[in-house]
Amino acid sequence: MQITSIEAVPYSIPYRSPLAFATGVLTSADHVLVRVHTDDGVHGVGDAAARPMVYGESQESIVTAIRDWLEPALTGLDPFAVEEAHARTSWVVANNTARGAVDVALHDLRGRATGLPSWRLLGGTARAIRVTRMLSMGEPAATAEEARAAAEEDGITSFKVKVGVDSRADVARVAAVREAVGDDATIYVDANHGWSAEEAHRALEAMRDHDLDLVEEPNPAEDRIGRRRLAQLLTIPVMADESAPTLADAARELTGGAARAISIKTTRTGFTESARIVALARALGARALLGNQADSMIGSAASLAFGAAHPWVAREPGELDLYTLFTDHLVAEPLRVRDGALQVSERPGIGVEIDEDKLARYRTDAGARP
Ligand SMILES: [Mg+2]
Repeated sequence: MQITSIEAVPYSIPYRSPLAFATGVLTSADHVLVRVHTDDGVHGVGDAAARPMVYGESQESIVTAIRDWLEPALTGLDPFAVEEAHARTSWVVANNTARGAVDVALHDLRGRATGLPSWRLLGGTARAIRVTRMLSMGEPAATAEEARAAAEEDGITSFKVKVGVDSRADVARVAAVREAVGDDATIYVDANHGWSAEEAHRALEAMRDHDLDLVEEPNPAEDRIGRRRLAQLLTIPVMADESAPTLADAARELTGGAARAISIKTTRTGFTESARIVALARALGARALLGNQADSMIGSAASLAFGAAHPWVAREPGELDLYTLFTDHLVAEPLRVRDGALQVSERPGIGVEIDEDKLARYRTDAGARP
């Protein structure tokens, strides 16, 4: 079997409401569906999320990177040779989600070709992963209500609270969420570099009674001294996310004492490099949690399959359901959180089938339905 082409289809699906965080606001999912085709007729699916504020990629740049660099480098290769594919495309710097989506698609393809779910093919046994619900950065009462509804309706027991814009409001928001969800729920915060190191220390001290599990990207990671000092002062782990988008970055953050946990996003590091980051974290005794790039159901299905394959990840709650922001989905059989968790798929690969009618409706290139 040989790779014959890689299809990259830009599409746009509106969000139900804007997604606000410390570095920007998103109003729609502007993604690129990636399909790796072979001479056997088997294909694999991945999804690239254009996140200009994080990776500098646009839908156009993702399509161009795949057409001009990744497809020529991989055409003719055995699609099972994921390590070789990773090596052959490692000269393409940045373009994180374009490369991640192609890697996921290759792993999906291996599953489809063998009839096995990716989590089994990779050696896992976890049947479900507990879901962390990401809460919006609203007024304390509104965010708390969101958390309460998630607990009641979907059985959610893990919550991420966005912070980093106004420390007082941040503290009030965390207090309101803890009050709403009770003592047993897991809560962690993500400042997306919004605090200074000193502000972070003060704010997290003020949140001490609310039993936070960890803090993600508290202050600018470029402030190396502030970040390390903060990590030493805190009794909870600092998690690296946007400061560790590659294996090399994760190694620097973990070994430099700036982080004790890593956010794993298969959307940016595929399965191949994500597995290396998990191994690195495990070797250093650092936690590894599934993060979310405001992923589609395709991206979430990929994360779920990857997480279920790795016990070090599967034991942690994962950010797996930001697709609830989407007004519609390209997948034929939607994911659904039950009892606060997502069950792995028994279908081959990452377990998704694309609804071609919906793709025709939402694609934004020349193939779009008039
Ligand atoms: Mg984050």
